[in-house]
Amino acid sequence: MENCIFCKIANGEIPAATLYEDGDFRVILDLGPASKGHALILPKAHAANIYELPDELAGKAMILAKKMAGKMTEALQCDGFNIVQNNGETAGQTVFHFHMHLIPRYKGDGVGLTWTPGTLSDEDREEILEKVKA
Ligand code: AMP
Ligand code: ZN
Repeated sequence: MENCIFCKIANGEIPAATLYEDGDFRVILDLGPASKGHALILPKAHAANIYELPDELAGKAMILAKKMAGKMTEALQCDGFNIVQNNGETAGQTVFHFHMHLIPRYKGDGVGLTWTPGTLSDEDREEILEKVKA
């Protein structure tokens, strides 16, 4: 994909602080980190979002996320770990090349990834079950 910054970073055309690289992925430090060690898993092949991501890469990305979470938790001595993945502007996606955020968490770090819980109404439950359940 021309003009996709994460294509260029993932494929080494633009330098980035790389924590890990293999034939399918590059893991880099986020330039606007939510916390110390915030990193991004970038597939080398372009997919705009999870809807476009091939199943095989989706599986490999999750295995890599698990590996990085273990390694980073040990190395950075963080107290917890968030894995975040945004799809679409409404969901907070700003770079339209699939990526997974690896966010180490530290007690009292104030990183705002929480929401105010609502209530699951009977109507919503029935509607969603009818529409989504396979
Ligand atoms: P999202 O909002 O889920 O699309 O996340 C995009 C992330 O990419 C943000 O956390 C940015 O800080 C990060 N980012 C944008 N450009 C770069 C870059 N050139 N190098 C590293 N991280 C970047
Ligand atoms: Zn791309």
